[in-house]
Amino acid sequence: MSDQNPFHIAQQQFDTAADLLGLHPNIRAVLRVPQRELTVNFPVKLDDGSTRMFTGYRVQHNLARGPVKGGIRYHPDVDLDEVRALAMWMTWKCALVNIPYGGAKGGVIVDPKQLSMGELERLTRRFATEISVLLGPERDIPAPDVGTNAQVMAWIMDTISMHRGYTVPAVITGKPINIGGSLGRVEATGRGVSLMVREVARHLGRDLAGLRVVVQGFGNVGSTAAALLAQMGCQVVGVADATSAYSCPAGLDLDALRTSSDRQTVGLLEGYSAPGCAHITGPALLELDCDVLIPAALGNQITEHNAGRIKAQFIVEGANGPTTPDADRILAERGVLVVPDILANAGGVIVSYFEWVQGLQEFFWDERDVNDKLERIIVGAFAQVWTLAQARQVPLRIAAYLLAVQRVADANITRGVYP
Ligand code: GLU
Repeated sequence: MSDQNPFHIAQQQFDTAADLLGLHPNIRAVLRVPQRELTVNFPVKLDDGSTRMFTGYRVQHNLARGPVKGGIRYHPDVDLDEVRALAMWMTWKCALVNIPYGGAKGGVIVDPKQLSMGELERLTRRFATEISVLLGPERDIPAPDVGTNAQVMAWIMDTISMHRGYTVPAVITGKPINIGGSLGRVEATGRGVSLMVREVARHLGRDLAGLRVVVQGFGNVGSTAAALLAQMGCQVVGVADATSAYSCPAGLDLDALRTSSDRQTVGLLEGYSAPGCAHITGPALLELDCDVLIPAALGNQITEHNAGRIKAQFIVEGANGPTTPDADRILAERGVLVVPDILANAGGVIVSYFEWVQGLQEFFWDERDVNDKLERIIVGAFAQVWTLAQARQVPLRIAAYLLAVQRVADANITRGVYP
């Protein structure tokens, strides 16, 4: 089996772009590794009176284009190499959609579903305190990711604000609306994904109506993308979360499924039954007969083992890192288009940027403003990537990397090496 270490994968993807760009070895060496890495081990009091140690990370990959930005993940499989990869991908993502940030990511090794609300709050406040040496509106601005949500962001915002003695809304994004969150932020990533499906269909001359979509992952990103695509006329013919997977060739009734995307736990799909829907295995979901596949769960889902059997005409990556480089090669040979994560799921960080700007200015926009600006940025980035991919005859991921890596390299070169 090929190397599935996410950081090695991120470095391979970077190396491919660096080779094609003819990047100077000096700048290449800078961009290939994260600038700063913080590991924290900290105790949390549990409800039964005991104390347990937890480990977390915050990695800042590159600071050349501005303060660093990226989510915080709570998951039992978090490790330093995963956080490094996710931080590097954030650098490229922010550069690709041209928002003034570098990339970062954080994570805690924990299954949040095993904690009570009180335990989750204490873990969050202590982790926020441990990494607070790095955070600040002009320094490092976290956001939600897998296993975290608006409530977790509220606790982080409150913790940093208590330390400072005044309220610091712009230290974090993805906050609840009533404390400075942005309208449209919860839906932003899924909205971006749905716009990417629309754009690919348009460029391929395919009608959106009746386009058959399969969605892996039914958290914030997957459930929102599915709902918006259904509104656009697509037919959702398969869904899965960590608990269950379903094939519904005649289309799925999403209203019956979707609840608040702000919930903490997955598992919504467990026990679902509807006429025309069959219970299938998680791996089988990815190979269902469909037009569009949206992996919106975790990394390393499409590998050299299943890439040859994927039937979708195109893949839009809602998750970070769902496709390995080996799978990318197989998909490219088979003519399956992949809209890469750093473009496809950039809607979240784009609206995070809007939230940060609104917080700094204390001037808030209506939802239509947010959605219009999001659409303009992500559709514009798609057009640039598509045009470059056509011109250089390369897959969309490589085109996206060429644009992003060049921008980050240029910023580093313009600033020079200190001292
Ligand atoms: N966690 C999201 C991502 O992977 C959002 C990051 C942000 O908004 O800062 O893009």
